Amino acid sequence: MTELASEELETIARELRATPHLLLCLDFDGTLAPIVEDPARARIPETTKQVLAALSRRADMTLAIVSGRSVSDLRTRIEFEMILAGNHGLEVAGNRYDLRNPQSSQWQRMLREICRELRPRVQEIPGALLEDKGLTASVHYRNVSDADVPAVEAMVNAATEPKAGQFRVRHGKKVLEILPRVHWNKGSAIRWIERRLRDEKGHEIGVCYIGDDATDELAFRELGPGAITIRVGYDCPTAARFRVRGVREVCGFLRWLGEQR
Ligand SMILES: [Mg+2]
Repeated sequence: MTELASEELETIARELRATPHLLLCLDFDGTLAPIVEDPARARIPETTKQVLAALSRRADMTLAIVSGRSVSDLRTRIEFEMILAGNHGLEVAGNRYDLRNPQSSQWQRMLREICRELRPRVQEIPGALLEDKGLTASVHYRNVSDADVPAVEAMVNAATEPKAGQFRVRHGKKVLEILPRVHWNKGSAIRWIERRLRDEKGHEIGVCYIGDDATDELAFRELGPGAITIRVGYDCPTAARFRVRGVREVCGFLRWLGEQR
């Protein structure tokens, strides 16, 4: 079941009928895959995979994953052909697209230095995990004791500080994201894919985006009321138009989506 109210579903169904082609963009962790203690073990449940596979075969839909993970990481978790927007949209691959944000590519070596500095310190904190994803980095603290969390935050801030002109730290769910200061986010990547698709198809494209975290809010704001935006979870205020409770409800919504039009 989708858990959305029938009038909400009616609104979405009406918007779907008005658009000849839908770009369906989905965050990965906490949206398609349940959040697990070790981010390396996150997987899309089998039922969701089947629903996605069916949607990806439809001629009136294009699917994209838009995630904080790198494209190369996403490739190991997605078994069928879809557009992959990784590193919070800084890189886009699939459907013959090949985009890398040029400014953040130039700063990649600088980020590697930050990570080299940070890694031994992070390793001293039990449960903390540093992930260098090329264009961005994540420090996960899901498995860190509450008492140690301020120390993790302090070391990430201290390591990023000398490069504050190029990098910023953003708080996500039990993760600190080290992101380049570029005017490009998940929302920009979705808009970029939308423009490419519109040029290919020769008509307007409808957009739906589902996500559960802070960087998804940037996308909800960028897309505005013209798109179908859905926030997963009730833990924070949201710029999305609709909400569902969790990954199971996302799967329910996707199944419902497959029955429309
Ligand atoms: Mg997420």
